Amino acid sequence: EAAATGSTGGADLSLVSVTKRFTDFTAVDGLDLTIPAGSFFALLGPSGCGKTTTLRMVAGLEQPTSGKITIGGRDITGTSAHERPVNTVFQNYALFPHMSVLDNVAFGLKRRRVRGAEEQAKAALELVELGHLAARRPGQLSGGQQQRVALARAVVNRPAVLLLDEPLGALDMKLRRQMQVELKKIQTEVGLTFVHVTHDQEEAMTMADTVAVMNGGKVEQMGAPRDLYELPRTAFVANFLGKSNLIAGTVAEDRGDAVVVDAGGHRLAVRKDRAAVHQGPVLVGIRPEKLTMLWPADAPAPEANLLHGRVLDTSFTGVSTEYLVQVPGVGTLGVFCQNHGQQPARPGDDVVLAWDTGHAFGLGGDQDSTAG
Ligand code: ATP
Repeated sequence: EAAATGSTGGADLSLVSVTKRFTDFTAVDGLDLTIPAGSFFALLGPSGCGKTTTLRMVAGLEQPTSGKITIGGRDITGTSAHERPVNTVFQNYALFPHMSVLDNVAFGLKRRRVRGAEEQAKAALELVELGHLAARRPGQLSGGQQQRVALARAVVNRPAVLLLDEPLGALDMKLRRQMQVELKKIQTEVGLTFVHVTHDQEEAMTMADTVAVMNGGKVEQMGAPRDLYELPRTAFVANFLGKSNLIAGTVAEDRGDAVVVDAGGHRLAVRKDRAAVHQGPVLVGIRPEKLTMLWPADAPAPEANLLHGRVLDTSFTGVSTEYLVQVPGVGTLGVFCQNHGQQPARPGDDVVLAWDTGHAFGLGGDQDSTAG
């Protein structure tokens, strides 16, 4: 079992061409993942993309149709669940209601007759800042506190890999954000390998060192949260991680370090190192917060990266004001403005949108721009 490995830190986890078919449906399709020891890894994707099935195969609750899973270099593909150095925390963490919080955490250790079980359980409760509630029953705790007990119970076993399946799903938004920070802190302190499954992009981005975006049983893109956000490689990733304006056009000119895309008669420059394709159809991506909105009188002389449009709608969100701007020949673009000092534009106003070339990205034009 977990502690029997004697490991104190995490171990690396790898999946090699892992496929899972349910009768005629392929839930996970040739997945290749290498997760370094001690990292916080998030599997992010919409409902049904195969996240939970992937996690269940790592836990040994589901057998892959083909492929190989290794932990710390050891092939565990055929190993039964209880022999794997893995612990799972689910959304519906089942604590024993008739036991104290401390006994809940110490349960696994005591069952394995680990010496000093109580002390280790106390330390794990201190880690999640619940030492003072050790004597209570789970029913006397809040949802967030119960979730922390479930975490302490998993961490105390020192699994080489800790799997988290939407562990914060049952919590309200505020508690959820708070727990995200705490979970990240705990992971850093214990140094275990965490694999976290979520459909919440903000959750994945805040906590993980590396995020794999899954879609239809495959990984669309994997990388550091900032890299995925700044330079998505597919329309699905661009739309799933926040909002993106994706403008369809065709490469009209090669300027050496950049291509100039013609979109409905407008000229948009994209740096080649930020463009997946350098000829033919392209989707030019610009995040709403990277657009600057100007009054027509303040706009520079016409050149690349200027779009004239008309405000359709505005909404104030507190942090920013969001505008929908209709640009003839291009479509409707979203703009987020944080500058509340200037006079806000209103529906019907003519405006000009501008941006730095370095903020645009280019995707292959053969994709559905609304995917994700
Ligand atoms: P969610 O976020 O909704 O939990 P998920 O990404 O975790 O979704 P999975 O639970 O891995 O998705 O399921 C992936 C696909 O496999 C789904 O379409 C699901 O219906 C299907 N699936 C899962 N388990 C089985 C099963 N035992 N038999 C048949 N199909 C299954």
